[in-house]
Amino acid sequence: MAFGELPKKDWYGILGAGPSDTLAELKRKYQRLVLLYHPDKQSADVSAGEVEARMQRFIEIDRAWKILGNEETKKEYDLQRREDELTQGWPADAQVSLEDMTWNHNDNCYSLTCRCGGKYSVSKFEAEHVSLVCCDTCSLLIEILQ
Ligand SMILES: [Zn+2]
Repeated sequence: MAFGELPKKDWYGILGAGPSDTLAELKRKYQRLVLLYHPDKQSADVSAGEVEARMQRFIEIDRAWKILGNEETKKEYDLQRREDELTQGWPADAQVSLEDMTWNHNDNCYSLTCRCGGKYSVSKFEAEHVSLVCCDTCSLLIEILQ
């Protein structure tokens, strides 16, 4: 069975789960949600728009489980996620514009706090000439958009 390119959605998020959840945990979360959104379980006083929204959600939940509840598709999806993370994570950790950074009068530079707690800093001159700035503590880079 060929799955081809899986749709790029956060299927874990749809189940309120994470990649580290076991199959049993995923199943439990799926079952809870699917009961909640199942078209047959909806009360009669729900508006048509809400019924439609819940139906869409139900379909997504069902789809998420079809992907994550199957060992083979789950593996493929996990791989795809990792690849996406790698391509997005390299070379820059984030793309920022100078407006996203803080201007420091004293040091005469722009700075931004890294997620490691360290700092990216770049002078006005550098900012005009370089696009990648390295964190002063870890090896992460940010790309400055001109
Ligand atoms: Zn850092």
